[in-house]
Amino acid sequence: MRIDIVARPASQEDPNEDYAAVVLADGGVAVVLDGVTPPADGDTGCAHDVPWFTARLGGALVELAGSRREWDLAACLSEAITRTAAAHGPGCDLSHKRTPQATAALLRWDEERVEHLVLSDAAILLGGKDGTITPVLDTRLTVLRLRPDLRALRERVKALAPGTAESEAAVHAYVGAVTALRNAEGGFFTVAADPDVAGRAVTGLTPRADVTDAAALTDGATRWTEVFGLGDFPALLSLVREEGLNTLLAQVRASEHADPEGEEFPRGKRHDDVAGVYVEL
Ligand SMILES: [Zn+2]
Repeated sequence: MRIDIVARPASQEDPNEDYAAVVLADGGVAVVLDGVTPPADGDTGCAHDVPWFTARLGGALVELAGSRREWDLAACLSEAITRTAAAHGPGCDLSHKRTPQATAALLRWDEERVEHLVLSDAAILLGGKDGTITPVLDTRLTVLRLRPDLRALRERVKALAPGTAESEAAVHAYVGAVTALRNAEGGFFTVAADPDVAGRAVTGLTPRADVTDAAALTDGATRWTEVFGLGDFPALLSLVREEGLNTLLAQVRASEHADPEGEEFPRGKRHDDVAGVYVEL
């Protein structure tokens, strides 16, 4: 068995909002979380920052997924959300749209099977014995971004010169439209304070005998494929398999530096946190 793990903030000045963990015991568990960056005005309705949230959620997930083998991963996630919500203080407004939250990719395996769970824009790649590589994605946000009204708002932001009042109003309108879809029916879902969101995750299981290896990655890592087009998902898993997660990280950073303003490869942030776990079973 080979394990590779990485969690690196976007830059040295930024807090690491990602979380990555692996435990090996009666099989194993991998937990990868991507804490959602708070809004520019810092209004989250909460006294706690994102690393506080991901550390508690991740710790609960490791413990529950590792010790509660009779629960499926969605049940483990639901309980981990409940525990983390209870750790907030009375002054924290957990109904706030931007309460600390994260995207999640979980793997759990034993002698019999490999289970996976993905919520929001994290990803899992499963390597098959037959040579196939299967990406597991929650595509809700990707599909929403293509919706004509959101596209029009985004185009308007791009068309206006930054720094003007008009541009700021356009950014405000776009951010407001996306925020309204966050953890709302018909929108997209992240791990925040509502345990029911676990039921929205993309889950499944594969016989262990059919899986050679697997990776759980945040969107900072999958931008190798999804933003920079350096290869498809099978190529991404092949790279990690052969050269490791640090090579993936280095290639992502090189692409980001080569296009710092996102002119060729438009993206929300110049650099993003990168977290991932690779497991050769
Ligand atoms: Zn709080």
